[in-house]
Amino acid sequence: MRQIAIYGKGGIGKSTTTQNLAAALAEQGRKLLLVGCDPKADSTRLILGGMAKSNVLEVMRETEEDDVTLDQFLYTGFLGIQAVESGGPEPGVGCAGRGITTAITMLENLGAYRPDLDYVLYDVLGDVVCGGFAMPIREGKAKEIYIVCSGEMMSLYAANNICRGILRYAAAGKTRLGGLICNSRLVDNERELVEEFARMLGTQLLYFLPRDNAVQRAELRRKTVIEDAPDCLQAEAYRELARRMENNQTFCVPKPLTTEELETLLLRYSFMVE
Ligand code: ADP
Ligand code: MG
Repeated sequence: MRQIAIYGKGGIGKSTTTQNLAAALAEQGRKLLLVGCDPKADSTRLILGGMAKSNVLEVMRETEEDDVTLDQFLYTGFLGIQAVESGGPEPGVGCAGRGITTAITMLENLGAYRPDLDYVLYDVLGDVVCGGFAMPIREGKAKEIYIVCSGEMMSLYAANNICRGILRYAAAGKTRLGGLICNSRLVDNERELVEEFARMLGTQLLYFLPRDNAVQRAELRRKTVIEDAPDCLQAEAYRELARRMENNQTFCVPKPLTTEELETLLLRYSFMVE
């Protein structure tokens, strides 16, 4: 069972990419569990054809601990993909990060990590790998991490910060960075910029995902592109991402850049003449 955590800045496309990746892997016959680690609880919407009716933390608040069962929050979606949302604390109360830890521990205790699973994918909120949001990697659950980014400055800042977090936790465990996934925002020289950024971190650009309105159309119909428009180019791009992840052999402990190095890199590529 490969346990993989997907990190990246909010809004960059983690949930869209993770669910399309899951769908592409499921098409190949893989068995997957998708764990949404975001209090927004929208990490499984495209796989389930709508927002999950319930989530782990919500059920835990409303039910005696001994009465909690998996079927209260674990759902089966597109091509048999198992999907669950950790949920979050009530707004203004408690720490969302700590909630993730509680939710994952509950999933383990209830036997959600069935031995026949090929993949567990964690879709994790956050620009920084802090506190409970680091849980999937801190506790050594996910040995592999991928970071979704684009050529935009703030997404690269976030990716660099996430690498700082990985560096901290990798020292104690076996967690490694498998690469960057560039989810294009049509920035000038985007591919070259992210490739160079990856090289400086000591990792690779695993795949460059094009920006495509097929994603929005599918999202409006509560589907992945794989389900909604299986023959389009974007569906093929997600399948290629899935192949690269399946075959990836390149894992590293990243070397984060200094802020100065990162800004110099951005300046260099932003003003590069084509
Ligand atoms: P995150 O989970 O990182 O917060 P989402 O996956 O929710 O981000 O994506 C944010 C928005 O970006 C969504 O509305 C989604 O439709 C859009 N999006 C993501 N990837 C692409 C893409 N490759 N092409 C076009 N739109 C995209
Ligand atoms: Mg998300």
